[in-house]
Amino acid sequence: MLDYGLTESQRAIRDLARSIADNEIRPVAADYDRTAEFPWPIVKTLAAADLFGVFVDEEYGGIANGTSTMNMVLVTEELSKACGGIALAFAGSALGAIPIILAGSEEQKRRYLPDIAAGRRLGAFALTEPQAGSDAGGIRTMARRDGDSYVLNGTKQWITGGGEAEIYVAIVMTNPDKGPRGASAIVVEKGTPGFSFGKKEDKMGIRASATRELIFEDCRVPAENLLGREGTGFITAMRTFDASRPGVAAQALGIAQGALDLAVDYAIGRRQFGAPVASFQGLRFLLADMATKVEAARALIYATARYIDSCPKARPTIYSAMAKCFASDIAMEVTTDAVQVFGGYGYMRDYPIEKYMRDAKITQIYEGTNQIQREEIGKILIGEHVSGHPRQNHAGVS
Ligand SMILES: Cc1cc2nc3c(=O)[nH]c(=O)nc-3n(C[C@H](O)[C@H](O)[C@H](O)COP(=O)(O)OP(=O)(O)OC[C@H]3O[C@@H](n4cnc5c(N)ncnc54)[C@H](O)[C@@H]3O)c2cc1C
Repeated sequence: MLDYGLTESQRAIRDLARSIADNEIRPVAADYDRTAEFPWPIVKTLAAADLFGVFVDEEYGGIANGTSTMNMVLVTEELSKACGGIALAFAGSALGAIPIILAGSEEQKRRYLPDIAAGRRLGAFALTEPQAGSDAGGIRTMARRDGDSYVLNGTKQWITGGGEAEIYVAIVMTNPDKGPRGASAIVVEKGTPGFSFGKKEDKMGIRASATRELIFEDCRVPAENLLGREGTGFITAMRTFDASRPGVAAQALGIAQGALDLAVDYAIGRRQFGAPVASFQGLRFLLADMATKVEAARALIYATARYIDSCPKARPTIYSAMAKCFASDIAMEVTTDAVQVFGGYGYMRDYPIEKYMRDAKITQIYEGTNQIQREEIGKILIGEHVSGHPRQNHAGVS
């Protein structure tokens, strides 16, 4: 791995996450994949190690100075090397915390962030609905203002952490006549009357992560749970994705690196034609390409995370989309090639490698499919070209 100039504290956080991944997660990853149980014992270990607070400001119970995308990326990458599903217990909660960090009032941050930072309560983020996936503007869940409350009705689909998390940020329509400008972000806590969960989904990969429907039936939440102003829900959602997509990218990176490590190991140990299969150029070239893709993804993700942390006022949309899109595409390629390196054994559930391929697939789909990422990248690129206003770099110089 290249030297990315990580600070001492970033290296310490990475090493701590790596040690938990190696010692606590790797030995149980296959069991959680099989049973699809939520990994509460690991959540407790991560919480005891203060890892849930790595991206939350010290003011609100975390260990970051401000917020730290880089810390979130490093922890997600390390955990995902051992299990992309278990890693989501951490990354999914971060996704729920980000809109509160970005759009919450001082009071809301003090109410929710310390619990999330301590891993006492997990966060989740709910935008998708059965009829509204890529076209998020089509959401129908309504929040009608009634005195000091909002009354929610509707269903959110495939919500990561659903049923296990306690603090949900839901994007809902407060004024459907205004279209996308009529959406708002509202915090709904587990246990609120009228808030229930659908069945747990039976998934191809990331099986240790709980994915459920959220069902709101005349669910009354205090009006003070509104994040920001009414009508800013989509802005909050888009800013959340700008900050969280490097996390999906890091999950993809960790999965790819984990698969690469296993593939190299296997290629050295497996003998055919009287020699290790790693000695055949055909396989060495395959491994070389896999390693090159992984390192390129890491460089893009770390640079994006650093950009977000050092330029909090800049819009990192294009870079976050590039990092997510590139890393998830290479994760799919690298994990598929890793199965190839294992040959027939790679196809068998007795070996750990096919799980990496199954886990990688979701990173091309959620938080905006890679088609949607390419749409965003393309639109920004062409928009800049037409307007003649190129992006600005760190120093504010084009
Ligand atoms: C395991 C899992 C966990 C999830 N967790 C969450 C969560 O925590 N919170 C949440 O809100 N959502 C979550 N989602 C939802 C996820 O973000 C959506 O599945 C995703 O955004 C795509 O929406 P869709 O599945 O409805 O696909 P669709 O939007 O129906 O897309 C179908 C296909 O059409 C393509 N397509 C659509 N529009 C375009 C276009 N304009 N140009 C080109 N191609 C297009 C898509 O790329 C895709 O290939 C999760 C999903 C899964 C599977």
